[in-house]
Amino acid sequence: MTAITPLLTDLDEAQVRVDLAAAFRLAARFDLHESVANHFSAAVSSDGKQFLCNPKWRHFGLVRASELVLLDADDPSTMDRPDAPDPSAWCIHGAVHSRIPTARAVLHCHPPYASALIGLGDPTIPPLDQATARFWGRTVYDMEMAGPPDDPAEGIRVAEALSGYSVMMMGNHGVTVVGESVAHAFEELYYLERACRTTVLALSTGRRLRPMSDELANSVARMWERFTDQGVAHFNELKAVLDCEDPTYRD
Ligand SMILES: [Zn+2]
Repeated sequence: MTAITPLLTDLDEAQVRVDLAAAFRLAARFDLHESVANHFSAAVSSDGKQFLCNPKWRHFGLVRASELVLLDADDPSTMDRPDAPDPSAWCIHGAVHSRIPTARAVLHCHPPYASALIGLGDPTIPPLDQATARFWGRTVYDMEMAGPPDDPAEGIRVAEALSGYSVMMMGNHGVTVVGESVAHAFEELYYLERACRTTVLALSTGRRLRPMSDELANSVARMWERFTDQGVAHFNELKAVLDCEDPTYRD
């Protein structure tokens, strides 16, 4: 279980657009995306029901701030709009934002190492190092996928299972992370894929794992809670890299 700091103010939409567009560009750079599917979203209203999402079938590496689609979870005509999102975006992200207003950013994707791990009989991330221990005791492993992600009932089920957590490993599907800001959620996703990579690489040696004791893993996981500012700093540095190399995400 994690404590997500409530931040129920109306956020500056322009800034949220820039940060979310940066998250898409960075996800493409880190190979966290898959095809033109997968979705990231960020709330712009205090109740979370108005949120930004990527345009349907836009490559993550090309997303611009101005083209993010503003959606309202309470608007049943959304899927009739000419700029209607992908149905799975509407079902999953609409359900999470409307049920968990503290989840200001919701990032869902199918990154390679996490996707490999969640297909195993035991998909848990063992506390092998500091990055893997970050997720010890604070990750929900949802192994009950009941239908395709464009089924509204699946969106509601996922939102309910995610409640109280910020990291979900979704069996036979992918990962979803939430955060109090785009920066916080992106840092979670960044470390989650690194932790899964370390786990898969360690397992691939065929040698016996040597995980931390539960007590040590717990203390390391708690340590990470004191490093939330580092996550914001990392995201700002990553945006600075984008600004040097291709600042068009801000457009
Ligand atoms: Zn998915």
